Amino acid sequence: MSRADNPGFAEALDRHVPGAVLEKEFIAETASRLRCEGFSKSNTLACVALCRDEITRPLFSGVERMWGSAFSFAGLAGMVTAGRTGLAAAIHHAPIEDGRRRFVIYAMAHIAINADGTIGRVERPGIPEPSSACGALVAFRDELREGTLEVEFDRYDTEQSLLKHRLLPLIGYGNVPDLVELTKLTVTAIEEDLREILRSLAAGWRATDRAMPGDAAIFSGIQIHGPDGVNFVWPLSVHIELGGALHDYEFSTETPQVP
Ligand SMILES: [Zn+2]
Repeated sequence: MSRADNPGFAEALDRHVPGAVLEKEFIAETASRLRCEGFSKSNTLACVALCRDEITRPLFSGVERMWGSAFSFAGLAGMVTAGRTGLAAAIHHAPIEDGRRRFVIYAMAHIAINADGTIGRVERPGIPEPSSACGALVAFRDELREGTLEVEFDRYDTEQSLLKHRLLPLIGYGNVPDLVELTKLTVTAIEEDLREILRSLAAGWRATDRAMPGDAAIFSGIQIHGPDGVNFVWPLSVHIELGGALHDYEFSTETPQVP
């Protein structure tokens, strides 16, 4: 898959998610950056927050190739419904080296862009017509568009109920964002929730004197499913906390130096 062979896709990519990079380049860049901060495959636990959709799996697999077996925070649309309990469990599974734990979180919403630049449609093996990605966000948006929004908690549709509850205040009454806007709001919510959960856990541990020195990194963004099964990533933010001190980084698309 090349951009030149798919001008509709390339144009849509540049318009909606400028700066998106190939998924494998994104993973290599993140690993290269963290190695400079002392993270390695043997001393780090990777955690991955992605939609449950099978087409997100290449990113999960790429992270595991780089960091080893990963803790899954999979939830519809990538929302972190595992919450404090899930993240606390993951942190306690992170290896300890020289008295420190290290973990890295990859947190992504996702969207498809097909060869002609159509947003939200992707070819899946064995299915003649393109289908939706992210299906959970498309279903939510359809309810907004058709005026059929159901906001009551449905115990048999737990994750979709929580997704709507989390995103509705960001959208505003009566508004119907397009799928790109809705996906960007989603990743913003995912990233905010992760930071808040981390803050809350750290405060709890400090209060009970059980603080464990640790280093954390969060890479958030949008995974994009392009033509021919090739994925890209639009990086949104990098959050690196070393021994409790926050280091903010700009994501660089320069060629990574992978040792
Ligand atoms: Zn999805």
